[in-house]
Amino acid sequence: MKKILITGASGFIGSHLEKKLHNEDNFIYAVDNNYTGNKANLEDLIDKKNFQFIEHDIINPIDLEVDEIYNLACAASPVHYQAKPIETSKTCVFGILNMLELAKKNNCKILHSSTSEVYGDPQVHPQKENYFGNVNPIGIRSCYDEGKRMAESLMFDHFRLYGTKIKVVRIFNTYGPNMLENDGRVVSNFIVQALQNKDITVFGDGKQTRSFCFVSDLIVGICKMMQTENFQGPCNLGNNQEHSILEFAQKIIELTNSKSKIIHLDLPQDDPKFRKPDLALAEEKLGYKPKVSFEEGLLTTIQYFKQKLMKEGRMP
Ligand code: UDP
Repeated sequence: MKKILITGASGFIGSHLEKKLHNEDNFIYAVDNNYTGNKANLEDLIDKKNFQFIEHDIINPIDLEVDEIYNLACAASPVHYQAKPIETSKTCVFGILNMLELAKKNNCKILHSSTSEVYGDPQVHPQKENYFGNVNPIGIRSCYDEGKRMAESLMFDHFRLYGTKIKVVRIFNTYGPNMLENDGRVVSNFIVQALQNKDITVFGDGKQTRSFCFVSDLIVGICKMMQTENFQGPCNLGNNQEHSILEFAQKIIELTNSKSKIIHLDLPQDDPKFRKPDLALAEEKLGYKPKVSFEEGLLTTIQYFKQKLMKEGRMP
């Protein structure tokens, strides 16, 4: 039985990863400071054998005996990481340093969840791992973008200096059940607005694009990355089907049979205009190919939010 540490454990992606790895008979140390995590995401696991939740902020060191580390800790939605920008930078930089020291001490593998945000507002499309990006170093997104870039830099310095067993994945927009309803992200915002027949808030003209990956596909990619030998990354993970935000709003209205109208609000500062992963490296090194169709993933996610709203008496 492997002892696995997952940081960002009560977050959206963490909760799915824990379920999978716990089912595969591993012992899980689930660490989270619960800033953006949601304890309800761990309801099914919290009382189980071989599962231990530790409330802890990774900007402070932690000492555990472990065989693998998945570092997912960090507020990831613009609304949340911008609300506490200094903490965001600290989580990215001090957090990964503490995790790298722990990996070195345990002589174990460490996978770090980096992000498509390292490409900033990209001038290359689709984004390949060898593109260095176009990031505003002083903008409102920079605590996250530059924090994540610094974390990658620390990962590779640890690898070069100490041979630490690093793995870096760059996660593109991901969605599915257990997303936070109020974290301001486009998928949860539009679905909840549509289910409640409220206005759908498209920022700007809606021509900006994103490529959305269903969470189960991402989890497969993350686990493949951890298992692969002699490959540190960075490796893009996501789905390469690109949609404009306006088209996405229309799709959600259609799938929810909603009476909502689309309204346009100001585009946030430094909002990337395009985003789509080049997945050639992920396919070559990991045999990774997303399988869940856009419509199938959205219907599952709509169902999740519908049940949640109904349970809370918030459906019209
Ligand atoms: N967005 C929007 N309406 C919303 C929330 C987001 O139009 O209510 C847009 C946002 O401006 C961005 C895209 O949707 O262009 C994706 O935003 P999100 O915050 O989900 O993730 P990002 O990729 O920007 O980190």
